Amino acid sequence: MFHKEKLIALCLIPVLLFAGCGKTESSGTTIQATTTTTTTTAATTAETSAVPTETTIDIKTSTIDNGYLQQATIGGVSYSLTIDLAKWEKNTSMEQIGTLEEVFWEVYPRLYKRFGEYSKAPVDVVLHIENEGYEIAEAWENNVHIHDQWLMNNPTDFDCFVHELAHVIQNGWDEEYLEYSGYIERFADYCRFIYAFKNGLYNDEGWELQTVENEPDRESSVRFLVWLDYNLSSPDRDFILNYFRICSSMKYEKTAWDKAWAELFKGTKFEGMSIDKVWELYASSDFAMLSSYSGSNGTSELLTKYDIRSRY
Ligand SMILES: [Zn+2]
Repeated sequence: MFHKEKLIALCLIPVLLFAGCGKTESSGTTIQATTTTTTTTAATTAETSAVPTETTIDIKTSTIDNGYLQQATIGGVSYSLTIDLAKWEKNTSMEQIGTLEEVFWEVYPRLYKRFGEYSKAPVDVVLHIENEGYEIAEAWENNVHIHDQWLMNNPTDFDCFVHELAHVIQNGWDEEYLEYSGYIERFADYCRFIYAFKNGLYNDEGWELQTVENEPDRESSVRFLVWLDYNLSSPDRDFILNYFRICSSMKYEKTAWDKAWAELFKGTKFEGMSIDKVWELYASSDFAMLSSYSGSNGTSELLTKYDIRSRY
């Protein structure tokens, strides 16, 4: 869904192949956070390496009306996460909310460092967990809404938050300057796959990167972005960042994207090829067909052969 009037992007209905139907217990726990400094372990991106490493960050947690606020400085950037529980009816457990906090601190600083500095994305994010009848999950400006019953019914779909955080990072892509408006969602799902919480611990059991059979063109394909990234990014060139910059800068109107693709491919092995030709190369590759599903503690066929996630 695209709320143009808010200059923001949005929403999603995650494709859950194995959506859980178990009901988690509402904890009934009252909010205990006080103004104090706590230490939490989260994955962040080291300054000198693209590979996430386990490290310890200090998160200051304080209570506010109907929720709490967390603050930490990572890589010289001060972030905050506000948990708004004004419309929370305890369908989402406190344990699940704690996992969503971990998702934020593991993922958002990495998204921000790679993309958000360019788009001037917000560093203060508000997560509203609300038992209201609108979207399962959506994002606008620096706000993310997750329906209070979503994690009750889909207990491990924490990575829907990664998708929404990618929308916050986009910070107002305008569909008039995208070849297809669907690129807003394709980018968010690219991020969901690449930055999946705990290296896909939950994501890869319940959500798949669709094959070329199910997403048969570049308008619909998330995997095509992952393939372009795998083939064209290097320590000297971040193809997806370049794609992000073109989408954010409103440089090319949707009818002029042949020029956008030509710019993106310039200096790469695909220079001079049309986007349709590049798509054909993708569609005929095994990358386009390998399964991204993994069972518990496993690694998918796709990531076993093409270990792109470890780059980030
Ligand atoms: Zn979305």
